Amino acid sequence: MDLDKISSIMSKDVISLEPKEFLRSAIQKMSSNNVSCVVVMQEKKPLGILTERDIICLMGINIDFNSVNLQTVMRSPVIAVSEETEIPEAANLMVINSLRRLVVVDGEQKVIGIVTQTDIIKNLSIDSFISFKKVEQIMNRNIISVDEKDRLSNAVSLMAKNRISCILVMKGKKPLGIITERDITKAIAEDTISNDLLEIMTSAMFTTHKDVNLFDATRLMDENKVRSLTVVDYQGIAIGIITKSDIIKNLRADYITILKNMLREKSKALIESELKYRTLVEQSLEGILIVQNSLIKFVNPTLLKILNYVESEIVGKDILRFLYPDDRDMFVKHLRKLSEHQLTDSSLELRMAHKNEEGIYMEVLLTQIQYEDNPAILVTLRNITERKKTEAELKRLVITDDLTGLFNQRYFYTQITKECERAKRHNRPLSLLLIDIDLFKDFNDTYGHWEGDFVLRKIGEILLNIVRDIDMPFRYGGEEFTVILPDTNHEDAIIVAERIRKAVAQNVFYPFTLDGQPDVVSKTVSIGITEFRDMDDMKSFVKRADNALYQAKNRGRNMLVHLV
Ligand code: GH3
Ligand code: MG
Ligand code: MG
Repeated sequence: MDLDKISSIMSKDVISLEPKEFLRSAIQKMSSNNVSCVVVMQEKKPLGILTERDIICLMGINIDFNSVNLQTVMRSPVIAVSEETEIPEAANLMVINSLRRLVVVDGEQKVIGIVTQTDIIKNLSIDSFISFKKVEQIMNRNIISVDEKDRLSNAVSLMAKNRISCILVMKGKKPLGIITERDITKAIAEDTISNDLLEIMTSAMFTTHKDVNLFDATRLMDENKVRSLTVVDYQGIAIGIITKSDIIKNLRADYITILKNMLREKSKALIESELKYRTLVEQSLEGILIVQNSLIKFVNPTLLKILNYVESEIVGKDILRFLYPDDRDMFVKHLRKLSEHQLTDSSLELRMAHKNEEGIYMEVLLTQIQYEDNPAILVTLRNITERKKTEAELKRLVITDDLTGLFNQRYFYTQITKECERAKRHNRPLSLLLIDIDLFKDFNDTYGHWEGDFVLRKIGEILLNIVRDIDMPFRYGGEEFTVILPDTNHEDAIIVAERIRKAVAQNVFYPFTLDGQPDVVSKTVSIGITEFRDMDDMKSFVKRADNALYQAKNRGRNMLVHLV
């Protein structure tokens, strides 16, 4: 791979302003020069940078463009590189720092140019990197969009919140157009900004299909001077969006692969002599370790930053010390498999100890390499803590009922199935309560749904407070609840049920009637109880609890019925 220098692609037309100037001048200058950022300079030295994205964010917090000066709002310090920097390294710096441009300075730190993602994509041996890949492989399927009838302020806050450079305007499922940061800055500069989306939506929207290759997609963006394309299916329905930043990120991933292949073959001495790769290792977004005989031989700054250690605290130490105890065995197993040559690559997820905070979830790839003439393991690590948290939250949402915070019906069926199997296998007792609020329709009719919802939440709380830790209360449906009681026979289940019935009946509610009169009422529940029997399956078990509940209703409500 040819490593060209930044000097060959940078643009020397840097639009600059003084720190004292007002925000509005910056916006006007960006718009009249058709550029996406200005550099704030004093005596040719870069003090800060202001981009279209920053303007969108500032707009979101209602800043007055006429009275705020650049010094207050610019981003500093500026990430600057020398013109000798190699292009892939610059690309990497951009990805690591989530930047779309870098300022280029000379030996005296004076600004001599600026280089953007676009410049880089154009020059990074594009054919070999991206012509094999299709739009589908890297497009973003999570389309953030607004409806044509939404207000502009809504679009602006969505863009600021999600840090995206453009937002689709939809008419139903079909994309109608796109609003970019550029459109918004232009409207501010020309003072034509209103709250009507459609007035701002000046850019023509360019679409592509998922099986177009990235090279052609990039060319389409360049030819039309846009930074993103909407991916549509053959019915014209938007299925994704692809931006210049996505493409740059992808280049980086490819670059890391090259690095790995190279490390696999070369010794440290060689790597270090090839300084260009060294930079890549040091500035990689991924954490990198080299482990030999279980000892850490090398660690890159990214990993030090993720775990908040300094190099001397890590190098020379046993890798296991930095892993969560639960994950050590698994890690050792993977290492063994690698060293016995059963595998050449091995990937796993584990938790590492942060120096002073909670653990960090890592996606880890182990690769066998030679290091200083002996076998070693190259460990690349990606911080997936955020993803793990999101996954856990999603999982929680899927099994939780919004209103009461109890588990929901879906989870009830998962758990009751498990518990029935467990009861059978271990010959343990298992009981089930089915609880239904009495005459709840009347309550809603008299006091309204708001008050009804409050009752549901309160009864949910009562259930949680009464049952033991191993019992599981669920909101089964509208105003019905269930409780699974593992290791509990029907005698004990009846005691629990009676406690629930009593607690609900004793609780006093103070609802307002629909015409605003305060009232004092209590609610009651009817409960069906049954214990799991040898010949039962999950269905017959639940059915019997349901029959018991039905009888409790028939016999006058506010009571328990137990069926065997
Ligand atoms: P019964 O004693 O026979 O159970 O009488 P009921 O009125 O409780 O029974 P029915 O099944 O006829 O009515 C259930 C009512 O529960 C209907 C609906 O108004 C109310 N309900 C169901 N889900 C919710 C909810 O999420 N919030 C509120 N406020 N009410 C709900
Ligand atoms: Mg009901
Ligand atoms: Mg009811």
